[in-house]
Amino acid sequence: MAAAVTIALALEGQLRLDDQPALHQAVALARRHPGGRLLVLACRPEAQRLRGPHQRRLEAQALAALHARLAAAGIPLLAFPQHTTAAALAELHPVVRPEAVLHASESRLFDTLPVAAERFPRVFSQFRRGLERDPEPPLPPPDLAGLGGAWSELPGAWLAPPVAAGAGGDPRSAFPFSGDEPTALARLQHYLCGSDGLRTYKASRNGLVGTECSAKFSPFLGVGSLSVRRIWQELLRYQALHGADEGSVCMQQELLWREFFLWSEQHHGVAFHAPGGIQQRPPEWDADRERFVRWTRAESGHPLIDAQLNELLTTGYLSNRGRQWVASHFVNELRLPWTWGARFFEWALIDAHPALNTGNWAYLAGVGSDPRSFGGAPRRFDLERQVRLYDPQQSHRQRWSRTPWP
Ligand SMILES: Cc1cc2nc3c(=O)[nH]c(=O)nc-3n(C[C@H](O)[C@H](O)[C@H](O)COP(=O)(O)OP(=O)(O)OC[C@H]3O[C@@H](n4cnc5c(N)ncnc54)[C@H](O)[C@@H]3O)c2cc1C
Repeated sequence: MAAAVTIALALEGQLRLDDQPALHQAVALARRHPGGRLLVLACRPEAQRLRGPHQRRLEAQALAALHARLAAAGIPLLAFPQHTTAAALAELHPVVRPEAVLHASESRLFDTLPVAAERFPRVFSQFRRGLERDPEPPLPPPDLAGLGGAWSELPGAWLAPPVAAGAGGDPRSAFPFSGDEPTALARLQHYLCGSDGLRTYKASRNGLVGTECSAKFSPFLGVGSLSVRRIWQELLRYQALHGADEGSVCMQQELLWREFFLWSEQHHGVAFHAPGGIQQRPPEWDADRERFVRWTRAESGHPLIDAQLNELLTTGYLSNRGRQWVASHFVNELRLPWTWGARFFEWALIDAHPALNTGNWAYLAGVGSDPRSFGGAPRRFDLERQVRLYDPQQSHRQRWSRTPWP
């Protein structure tokens, strides 16, 4: 009897079934052969990334849920978290040799650069105005029936379900969710339809505490259990029902910021992550290691910043406003190298993404895409004023301060 044709799908940090064009291709290929079967590999993305404990916890949850869903269709999911796809395939080679390997690419709104490369702008407003087309629509999960197999050649240990901790964590966490795809889709529905979240988003998004002030999509996007195109399409559906209110338009704008940084990284290459950033400015900082080490222990010397850092270390999540305060203080008050802060965030954040993290840090360090910083100083946040504006009761500090609060 002829051996079954095996088609492999490499997920590379994209841990979902929804909106996976490569999965559709893999299914179509497997169906061309009688008895064709699908094998799914979960590998690390090609570009080296720092994945800290919070993001790894989420990844394990997403992986366990995906494993169970694929197992129900008889399709094995083999996890090679430390391997690139090439290394995983080499390990697999003595046992299975797939006829074709498809790669799931990162979830973006656009398949290719959405503005002309020769006019790629340095600032977001021009990027948004220059967009040449609408985002692509998402694809629903394909029918996987009949694509399983006996898989007797695979060692049992490879087929064992991955172990994942429950959502759990610190009860104060602003992200108390599990990282899996069903939870991601439920959160999307909740924020857009099951609550006032989206309607009030423009006013609430600068909040510092709790699950509802912002959408909390980023940790799911970070491990690929949610598709950004799915979010966009749900926003369009919401707008068809309720009109393009300020909350939904503001959310679209934030998703375009994400897009801007992803394509900027691709466009600028190494300069994007370099100390001088896309502006290629000579760094002005004080490379004081001791000060930096104290900062990594949430001992920055400023109580508002220490509370933010304590939240980051404990849960991996930090509000956007909190991240801005911390980065501004790091650059302007501590005068430490922004690249050190960015690297630390990449390890600590539950939603860490190199392009989004560097893009934001470089912006605040005055070497990135902040138009105010071109030829001038970085933006500086006045913390006393900020706290009056965004947390007048100091509820964040009360929640996260390590020292007793009156
Ligand atoms: C110093 C610093 C570092 C950051 N590092 C990361 C990172 O590693 N990974 C990451 O996903 N985001 C990063 N951000 C952006 C932003 O803080 C988070 O995306 C946001 O706080 C996530 O929470 P949310 O999903 O509730 O956001 P919402 O306010 O609900 O926004 C919805 C979505 O829009 C996108 N978005 C919102 N703000 C930004 C932004 N400033 N830049 C890019 N996309 C944005 C995200 O995908 C987010 O999930 C960083 C911001 C700063 C200031």
